[in-house]
Amino acid sequence: MTRVLVVEDEPQLVRALEINLRARRYEVDTAPDGATALRLAAEDSPDIVLLDLGLPDIDGIEVIRRLRGRSRVPIIVVSARRTTEEKVEALEAGADDYLTKPFGMDELVARIRAAARRAERASPAGDSGLIATGDFTVDLLAKRVRRQGNEVRLTPTEWHLLEVLVRRRGRLVGQKELLQEVGGVSLSARTNGLRVCMARLRRKLEGDPARPRHFITFPGMGYRFDL
Ligand code: CA
Repeated sequence: MTRVLVVEDEPQLVRALEINLRARRYEVDTAPDGATALRLAAEDSPDIVLLDLGLPDIDGIEVIRRLRGRSRVPIIVVSARRTTEEKVEALEAGADDYLTKPFGMDELVARIRAAARRAERASPAGDSGLIATGDFTVDLLAKRVRRQGNEVRLTPTEWHLLEVLVRRRGRLVGQKELLQEVGGVSLSARTNGLRVCMARLRRKLEGDPARPRHFITFPGMGYRFDL
């Protein structure tokens, strides 16, 4: 059974989440504040954390940072905050997804399922460093990409971008983080350079670049690599 830790200080919303998630056969723990959340996350090792950013004690962003200091548990932020900056801040602190209140329960459950699936697939590549998607294979050690048996030529910047995303697969990587990582290589890379480089990667690697399955864009926020 998937164990969900709900971190939320509005009792009515907590109640609604408990009822709905239990009805869908999730195990639910609840924490009304950040301190309790951090304690329960350490004691009960939840499979997913649903996190409200506006908590009475510790700011939600700080809760994300502290959780990330010790765990890879998927964190879905569920918040009334709406600005892109706040989303970016949460994602850069290590949140995996972001849902704005009010939201539908079906939407929430879909996000929980997706996050759980990604966490399962994102387990480390192991010694081989080989990551295979349905469309192409990445060899992190040999720094090679093959598609339908043929080697795909990537520029150093494209490779670097690919490598950063693949190593953090299943996780949204913020634009700022990507630029910090990749910018050193060259990339006339401010945000636009990033977009152009991503478009080239998609053309080279995606089965259908217009409907990418592996390089997912979160407008204004960043990108995620999915297997
Ligand atoms: Ca709140």
